[in-house]
Amino acid sequence: MAASEIVVMKFGGTSVAEPDDIRRAAGRIVAARQEGKLVVAVLSARGKTTDDLVDMAYEVSDTPAAREMDMLLSTGERISCALCAMAIHDLGYNAISLTGSQAGIVTDSSHTKARILDVRADRIRSALDEDRIVLVAGFQGVSGDSRDVTTLGRGGSDTTAVAIAAALGAEVCQIYTDVRGVFSADPRLVSNARLLPFVSFEEMLEMAASGARVLQLRSVEYARNHGIRMECRSSFEDGPGTLVLSEQDTMERPSVTAVTHAEEARVTLTGLRDEPGIAGRVFGALADANVNVDMIIQNEPVSADATADLSFTVDAGDLGSASQALGGLDISERIETDERVGKVSVVGAGMRSHPGVAATVFRVLGDNGINIEMIATSPIKISCVIDADKIPEAVRALHEAFELGTDAILEEEPTGAEHRPRVAP
Ligand code: ASP
Ligand code: MG
Repeated sequence: MAASEIVVMKFGGTSVAEPDDIRRAAGRIVAARQEGKLVVAVLSARGKTTDDLVDMAYEVSDTPAAREMDMLLSTGERISCALCAMAIHDLGYNAISLTGSQAGIVTDSSHTKARILDVRADRIRSALDEDRIVLVAGFQGVSGDSRDVTTLGRGGSDTTAVAIAAALGAEVCQIYTDVRGVFSADPRLVSNARLLPFVSFEEMLEMAASGARVLQLRSVEYARNHGIRMECRSSFEDGPGTLVLSEQDTMERPSVTAVTHAEEARVTLTGLRDEPGIAGRVFGALADANVNVDMIIQNEPVSADATADLSFTVDAGDLGSASQALGGLDISERIETDERVGKVSVVGAGMRSHPGVAATVFRVLGDNGINIEMIATSPIKISCVIDADKIPEAVRALHEAFELGTDAILEEEPTGAEHRPRVAP
C-alpha cells in the first residue's frame, strides 16, 4: 500500500448537517475512491449537535462530570459516521465507521481537552487493505490510562484528521468546510476579502490563535510538526481552496497577509506584589486550572516598593475558572474582570523584513478614533485589544490600509506557477 495513495478527508459540521449534505460528502468520498485513492474520512457532528448535547447536559446538571460529558459529546460524531457509511453503501462502495477509540486514537486523560498521544492505526490500515472506505468519528479518543472516552476540545475533528494523516503517512489532509478556504479577513465583515491560495504554517498558527476559525489551532500545530500539508476547501463548491504549507515552500510575501479578530475576556490584577516568583504563581495557578492565557501585559512599577498591575486575556469561556484559580492566591489587592474585549490582529510572514507595519496599525486605529488598550506582538503578528464593538470598523480599516482586498491585488501568480504563491510586488 503506497503511502501517497492515502487521502484523509475531513468534513465539518455544516458539511454533514442535513441528509443531502451527508449524501454530498459521501459522493465526494466515493469520487476520491474512484480516482484510485484509499480514503479515510473524518467527520464532525452534524450541524449544531455538539452545542445541543452541551445544552442537554446543563439541563440535567449545573456541574456535569467531565468524564460523562465526553461520553455524551462523543456521540455526535458517531452519528455522522454511521449515517455517512450508509450513504456510501448506497453508492455501491464498502464503508465502515469507527469510533475514535476503535480507530486507535489514544489520548491523555484530560477530559474535554484531551491531547492525542498516539495513533494506533492498524485497524484503519486493515480496513483499507480490505478495500473499505474508513469513516472515523472526529474529536474523540480513548485515554491510554483510564480507558475512558475523551474529547479533544471544540473543533477537535481537524486534529483527528491531521493525526490520522500523519499516522498513515498521507501526504495531504483535506479539510472540507462551509467556506472556500482561508481569507484575508472574515468575509462577513469585509466584502472584498480575498481567498488566500497559500498560507504558511506559521501564519496559519498565528491566524488561528488570533481568531480565524477555519482550522483548529492544534490541528495546524500537529500538521506543522509532522509535515502534513493541509488543504482547506469548500464541500459545497469546487475550487482549489487554501493550501497550508511550510515556510520554505512559500516565496517572498507582502508585509501583511491577513487581518483577524476575536472576542476575549480580560483579567487585571492590581496591587500585585513586586517580587520574584509572583508571575510564576499567577500563571501556574491558571495552568493548573487548564486555562489558556493569550496576551499578557505587565510593567515594572514606576517607583520602588510600589505594587504592579498585571493584565491578561483568556477565552470568555475560561473567565470563571481563571477568576476562581486566582481568588485563592492572595497576592494582589484586586482582581478585575472584563467579560468582553475585542482583539484585532494583522498577521504576515513578510512583516519580518518590512519595517513600519506596527506604526501603520497604530496610526490607522488612531485615525479611526479607536483606542488601543493592550498591544502584543510576535515576529509575524501585531495584536491590539480594543473595544469589542469597534471590531468591524478596525478590521475593515486595517484590511484597506494594507491593501489586502481583491481589488488591490496587482496580478495573480504568473502562469505555470499554479502551486506557488504569488511574488510580493
Ligand atoms: N463537534 C465538535 C465541535 O463542534 C468537534 C468538531 O466539530 O470538530 O466542536
Ligand atoms: Mg465543528
